[in-house]
Parts: sequence; structure tokens; C-alpha cells
Amino acid sequence: MAKVVLNQVSKRFSDTVAAVRELNLEVADQEFLVLVGPSGCGKTTTLRMIAGLEDVSGGVITIGDRNVTHVSPKDRDIAMVFQNYALYPHMTVRRNMSFGLQLRYGGNIVSRLWRRLKDAQSAAEREKQYQQIPTKVDQVAGTLGISKLLDRYPRELSGGERQRVALGRAIVRQPAAFLFDEPLSNLDAKLRVEMRRELKELHRRLGATMIYVTHDQVEAMTLGDRIAVMDQGVLQQVGSPSEVYHKPANRFVASFLGTPGMNLLEGELVEENGQVQFRASGVQLKVSANQRPELKPSSSRKIVLGVRPEDILLTEESSADCPQAGRGQVELVESLGDTGYVHIRLPGETPGSEELPRITAKANGAMLSGDLEARPVPMAFR
Ligand code: ADP
Ligand code: MG
Repeated sequence: MAKVVLNQVSKRFSDTVAAVRELNLEVADQEFLVLVGPSGCGKTTTLRMIAGLEDVSGGVITIGDRNVTHVSPKDRDIAMVFQNYALYPHMTVRRNMSFGLQLRYGGNIVSRLWRRLKDAQSAAEREKQYQQIPTKVDQVAGTLGISKLLDRYPRELSGGERQRVALGRAIVRQPAAFLFDEPLSNLDAKLRVEMRRELKELHRRLGATMIYVTHDQVEAMTLGDRIAVMDQGVLQQVGSPSEVYHKPANRFVASFLGTPGMNLLEGELVEENGQVQFRASGVQLKVSANQRPELKPSSSRKIVLGVRPEDILLTEESSADCPQAGRGQVELVESLGDTGYVHIRLPGETPGSEELPRITAKANGAMLSGDLEARPVPMAFR
């Protein structure tokens, strides 16, 4: 197993398309790193450059201690699992899983004889590896629960089974690192959750370095030891799921992670008599001392305040005694059963903006069961 390092890696497809820009990323040995971002942000291109399927336009890629920037894909010792599985349709599952190893350790009669003449000892070692391929395939098939499928062809398998075979094919190769490109996106929701758990479990068991690409932020949050967020070819933030969720580096990260994303309230920080308040239309918050940014006495500053929907408490009664309060009118309620989201329109307009200020709060089932729509709601902020 090995760490993977990208140093100032860029990819230009043409003068106008810069798919990846000066990407710096260090994936630790045995780490599960998720690269997440919207469609078209450069995730697949990044993965393909690590795999060697795409030349870099600039920068250096190392795997382990080896500079592999210009090494051919088959000599990089990594395995990639694709969204569409990319199984060979004319080969059985067994053959699909063993094919890569057979190429590596076998070859045709002539090349095997030639190897034996050149270096008998290494030829014997390769021969031994070659002989062990069927056992290895059986073992991996066992762990993935696909032993019964070994003699079938890909067209005789369900989506989930194909995904397992693609995974199996990667595992038997025992690569230095695994690369996954949205491997679960063709599966139905229930299977996706199941496979997500299995992948996490597999990572623990194999102790392998894994780089996993997805546009799905839930997948990113649940799978990653760390998450790297990308937008328009540029890395925005790298951190633990909790770091990127609670301390987003910028507006993009704040609104991309979470369903729905963070509320971004444009307002003003005002200092009056030693007290600092945040004020936006319909919202007035006392800012506690430990969160207080530098502000001169009797001055104010425009800021954007990020608030997660779960940090807004909707209160049934008017909370005049609650100093951290806002008020708005319910526009729409989305119920998910036990919880749901309440979209609230705040009074007033943001100057210079066409859009009316809105905020989304998470609410529990009891709150949702009442007839909330079109009612004014008091809010408190955690
Ligand atoms: P993602 O996987 O995040 O959806 P991609 O890495 O596939 O994004 O693509 C990043 C950008 O590079 C997109 O604008 C895409 O259109 C462009 N792109 C990808 N592959 C090629 C290619 N072979 N030729 C030209 N442009 C490409
Ligand atoms: Mg892609």
C-alpha cells in the first residue's frame, strides 16, 4: 500500500478548457479520501491522471516513493473501478477477475520461455504467482459473496452483482491504491446504501489507500476519512467530514455540503455599547464573545452568516424573551416523515438583490404535523 501525492497537477484539454488547475493533494497510506464536487468539476480527469489514463499538462504525481507522472498505467500498480463497471462482456466473471493477473504473471509460451532463460529465479517466482491466481480469485469471490456467479457472463448479472465483480477484479490485483469513479451511481438507492457500508468495511479489512470520486455529498460524508471538495477544476477545501461541514472554507463548500446546504444570510455585524449583534432582515442575533470577530466600538461591518438548517429552532410560541431570534413567514413545508424542512421567507429585501431573503430550517415531526404553511414563525438560533 502507498500514499498518493499530487503536486501542482493541471490538465488542459484545450486553450479554453482547464479541467484541473494546480491541484495539490496528499492522500495518506491506507486513507479513504473522497473527492467530491458537482458534475464537470474535474473529478474524473483527476482520477484518470492518477491512473495514467490521461497525461498531465503540468505537475508531478507520486505513488509510494515513485514519481509516476510519465509511467504507463499498467506499471503504476493501481486499480480503478469505473461507474459503468467496464467488465469484458465476452468473458465469464472468473475470467474477468483473473485476466489482469494472467497478463501480469503469465503471457504467452514464448515470453514465458524467454523469461526462464533470462532469469530463472524471477521466472519461477512469477510462475508461482501465476499458479495461485485461481485460488486468489476464489478467495476474493468468497469475501464479496459472488462465488456462485463465477461462471456467468456480465450480461447475466444484475447491476449490484456487476459492481461486486468490478470490485473483485480490482481486489485480486492487490494494488498499491484503489481509484473509484462514482462506482455506486448506477445502483438503486437501497443497494447504494448497502454497498456503501460494504465498501467502508472492505477498506477497513484491506487497509488499502482508496481515492473515491463522487458528486454525491452524502456518500462523501459517510465514506471519507477526509473529503476534498472541488469546483471548476480548483480544490476548495480538504478536511475531515466534520471540518468541511462545520467549518467550510468558503460559500461554495458551505452550500454544496448538506441537504439542503447552509443558509447564507447577508447582513451586518454591529457593535453597540460593548455588545456585538448580527442583523439581517428579520434576524437579530447576539454574537457571543468567543465567536466575535474584531470590530471597533460603535462600528459595523457587512458579513455573510452561515447557518445550518438544523441550527434553526422553530418555536411554536412567540419567543420575545429569546434574544437570539428571527421572524419570517413559512412558504413551503417538505416533510420526510420523522423530520422535514421548512422554507421561510424573511421580511424585507436584500438591497441590490433580485431574490427575496429566504432561510431553510430543519424541523421535527411534531412541528411538521401542525398546519405551518403561510404562518408567521418565530425562530431561535443555536
Ligand atoms: P467530473 O468527473 O467532475 O464530472 P470531468 O473530469 O469529467 O468532470 O470533466 C472536467 C471538465 O473537462 C469538463 O468541463 C469536461 O467537459 C472537460 N473534459 C473532460 N474530458 C475531456 C476531453 N477528453 N476533452 C475535452 N474536454 C474534456
Ligand atoms: Mg466524472
